[in-house]
Amino acid sequence: MIGRTVAVLGATGSIGQATIDVVEQLGPPWNIQAISAHCRVAELHAIATRHSPRRAVVSGSSGENEFFQENSPSGAWPVGCELLTGPAGLLAAATAEEVDVVVAAIVGRAGVESTLAALEAGKRVALANKETLVCAGSVVETLLYGNADSDRTGTHTETASENGSSAWRPLAGPRLLPVDSEHSAIFQCLETARDTQRSCERLILTASGGPFRTWTYNQMREATVAQALKHPTWEMGKKISIDSATMMNKALEIVEARWLFGMPAESLEVVVHPQSIVHSLVEFIDGSILAQLSPPDMRLPIQYALTYPERLPCPAARLDRTKSWELTLQPVDRELFPAISLGFEVAKAGGTAGSVVNAANEAAVDLFLEERIRFTDIVPACRTVLENHTFEARPSLARLLELDQWARAEVRRWSSRKS
Ligand code: NAD
Ligand code: MG
Repeated sequence: MIGRTVAVLGATGSIGQATIDVVEQLGPPWNIQAISAHCRVAELHAIATRHSPRRAVVSGSSGENEFFQENSPSGAWPVGCELLTGPAGLLAAATAEEVDVVVAAIVGRAGVESTLAALEAGKRVALANKETLVCAGSVVETLLYGNADSDRTGTHTETASENGSSAWRPLAGPRLLPVDSEHSAIFQCLETARDTQRSCERLILTASGGPFRTWTYNQMREATVAQALKHPTWEMGKKISIDSATMMNKALEIVEARWLFGMPAESLEVVVHPQSIVHSLVEFIDGSILAQLSPPDMRLPIQYALTYPERLPCPAARLDRTKSWELTLQPVDRELFPAISLGFEVAKAGGTAGSVVNAANEAAVDLFLEERIRFTDIVPACRTVLENHTFEARPSLARLLELDQWARAEVRRWSSRKS
């Protein structure tokens, strides 16, 4: 039985808030003992007041206790709540002895170190921060499996399984549970299989298509920040909302799936499903396809990641069967959404490719949000930086993080050359 003491890293975000709701609804013995926010101290204070955690972290500050007092308009912090700051505070929260499950809900590369630290400390990680796997999947593999078979890291030397297809070691399991709805869906479908490596042929990720699914390239070229942020089915943080509009989110999810399920890029597929009810599908070697369905509500995959292997009543919305539901599945237009091909390339290449593309994307999204580049510049910027980098098959974590910095600077240089 998994313990019930939770740390929510990125507690003030969309996934963080949904996690807090889930834990509140689960009720005791589930409890929150560590929370973090990057800068929204008043919101963090409100969560602390409600849950009295042992640790509260403001990761965006290097200040001391005065900082908390000055930024806590609604009064004192709960007695016994240790106030921490900066990256060291995040690491302390991720590895605190009393914590059983760490919900990795920080956005972007900023979530990498705390997620790795939680895994290293033996915590269960409920992973929303897909960027950890995109940037440092090989490091996560080493943490979960050790160094025994180092050939499998980096580009992953493919090994033939008994049915002749290539297979890698899946990282999803009781220690690393996917929160991303698509990966949670696949994880749930795979649970029905006796021998996944032998019987599973293809993982089919669904994509809503984002707000520009029906737009032309020329329309997208003129897209405003407000239009790009307006997702048709999900309410999410800004970065992932822009990623959904470019479909870079799906590109990152292709790489995430490759690591979580140990499947090569050739066994992954993307289909557009505008209703966001079918969260993903698994095709088995006999042609049977299983899918997981539920209305778009992240509380369901979050709760399953917490309580796995148990299923418990959940506050997430239910499908209303008194009305008709249309479930459309259609091919993705790779010309209009070049991020998809980029995602497959990165998943196939492994090594340093994920870290470089992830960082380039984060930098390009920031520039778009600042209205310094066009929406249609984001993916070409990522491709240019990927092609300009010197690929390494088996990078260390230090090298991956160094390349992350390099890729961000390259995007900034690329955009200033363009303007
Ligand atoms: P968000 O922007 O709503 O929240 C991000 C959280 O991270 C906030 O608590 C913020 O304080 C914290 N944060 C921001 N920058 C930070 C930094 N530099 N260092 C430390 N903390 C920082 O984001 P979100 O939509 O909740 O997404 C969080 C993660 O979950 C992302 O990796 C995203 O891809 C993934 N995800 C989100 C959804 C969703 O529905 N929102 C679905 C699937 C996966
Ligand atoms: Mg997703």
